Amino acid sequence: MSDNESVTSITVETSPTILLAEDDPVTRMLMTRFLRKAGYEVDAVANGSEALDKMTKRYYSMLVTDWEMPEMDGIALCKAVRNMQLDGYVYALLLTARDSKEHIIAGLEAGADDYLVKPVHEAELIARLNAGRRILDLEHSLRVANERNRILSITDALTGAYNRRYLMEQLPREVERCRRYAYPLSVLMCDIDHFKEINDERGHSAGDDVLQQFAARAQKSIRSNSDWVARYGGEEFLIVLPQTAYQGGLFVAEKIRSLVSSTPFSTRNGDPVVTASFGVASTGPNGPDLTLKVESMIRTADECLYRSKQEGRNRTNGHEIAVSLALMANG
Ligand code: GH3
Ligand code: MG
Ligand code: MG
Ligand code: MG
Repeated sequence: MSDNESVTSITVETSPTILLAEDDPVTRMLMTRFLRKAGYEVDAVANGSEALDKMTKRYYSMLVTDWEMPEMDGIALCKAVRNMQLDGYVYALLLTARDSKEHIIAGLEAGADDYLVKPVHEAELIARLNAGRRILDLEHSLRVANERNRILSITDALTGAYNRRYLMEQLPREVERCRRYAYPLSVLMCDIDHFKEINDERGHSAGDDVLQQFAARAQKSIRSNSDWVARYGGEEFLIVLPQTAYQGGLFVAEKIRSLVSSTPFSTRNGDPVVTASFGVASTGPNGPDLTLKVESMIRTADECLYRSKQEGRNRTNGHEIAVSLALMANG
């Protein structure tokens, strides 16, 4: 599982930084001062477009904005913020000099979460910001829970490798990407040899230990930022190597194969020596042609794996899928 799949990538904010947009310099200075006194970090700007500019550079969970400002006012700013793709929710509080109902409705409809009529009562502003923080905290825990569920839904619980569902979703995308950029792609199918015997002799739980460690050894042998491992079936794994041509694919398969066979696995019921057989399917050096299907790559890898089994196991066979002759003839 790559780093960017980790739930910890969603950071918890201890004290949010407020982005304050206010064109009047004296008000801006006074508000900055008392917000800081209340424990908030503050970045202050003079209008909406400066605020937007700041927000493209980093994520602010709280925005306090004046309504009337030159260049871009608070309403346009709120609308723009709601259309941005940001790392999390922005709680927006609008400051307005007018308190007519129509005015307030327009502000809320533009995307503000709350409003305060100027002149601002300091204690009220802080109380409202603290209420906003409660909403941000809730939104944050929801996001963490969603992310955790997303990861669970694509992960094999025993080995931590991706599951078959993820494989079937993601592999077509890898093929497509390699086709677009004319990168080669290799897939390795591997199957643990005589795994049934390990289960029979040492028990199913010891078999599970082997599966976990097998996945870990495979994971250790590949590039963590682009290559990935999926559990294809019981004791079968499919390893996807983008930007890797045939020779590279064979090399990685052999690397995993020897890492597996060279050191015994340590299980709760003894330390068996484990071997595995491999099948490698690769596109040509210039990537997949238009006719290549994911299914045929998997089938090719599977056929090579079958040959490795036939030839006595603990070995690698591979095949470089030729570019379709029809395509070559057409230029
Ligand atoms: P070969 O060398 O031909 O691959 O023989 P094999 O024994 O590895 O192959 P076979 O397909 O006959 O057996 C695979 C076994 O894997 C059978 C099944 O009970 C076991 N298995 C499947 N999933 C799990 C699992 O999650 N944990 C454990 N412990 N065993 C599993
Ligand atoms: Mg103003
Ligand atoms: Mg099998
Ligand atoms: Mg097997």
